[in-house]
Amino acid sequence: MSKEKGSSSMIFNVAQLMKSPVGTSVASDIDEDNAQLDETLKITSPLVGHARMRRVNQGLLVDGWLDLTLEQTCDRCLKRIEQPMHVTFEELFYPTVDVLTGTPLPPIEEDDVFPIDEHHQVDLTEALRQSVLLAIPMATLCNPDCAGLCPQCGHDLNLGPCECKPEVDTRLNVLKTLLSNSNHDQS
Ligand SMILES: [Zn+2]
Ligand SMILES: [Zn+2]
Repeated sequence: MSKEKGSSSMIFNVAQLMKSPVGTSVASDIDEDNAQLDETLKITSPLVGHARMRRVNQGLLVDGWLDLTLEQTCDRCLKRIEQPMHVTFEELFYPTVDVLTGTPLPPIEEDDVFPIDEHHQVDLTEALRQSVLLAIPMATLCNPDCAGLCPQCGHDLNLGPCECKPEVDTRLNVLKTLLSNSNHDQS
């Protein structure tokens, strides 16, 4: 079956599942070639993953995983890095209309839940966006030992030392000696 134009593997019609008994589940692959989850994220790979939707009392419990590659920059030397990520998610989706009668349902007063829209569709985009943002590490380094850039001339110190003269400050040098000694002690 070819993919319909404009169709998304992150949007599912769950009308049948919502009519099914609690405990019923369906699973589906996620495969998006040109997905853009968030304007701050530069995704350089297809989104590939798997989602399982399970009928629970309140609605649907959706869990699964997603693999993607993000383009980021090293915090120290600003080099571009391709960062592969494996993200898992588990979210509750609640119905906004009754699946049998079409009657609007009162909104659920709970945080961290997502709506099943009035066409009985689940859109995973927002849930996946939040999961990916949460999974991004606080610090991004091209290499744990990245030497960074010279604060004076901007030279990439991973490529070797620059011509800058170290700032002369005896207190700083004493501190550097102490630090390098303590590094030696650890190794
Ligand atoms: Zn770096
Ligand atoms: Zn320099």
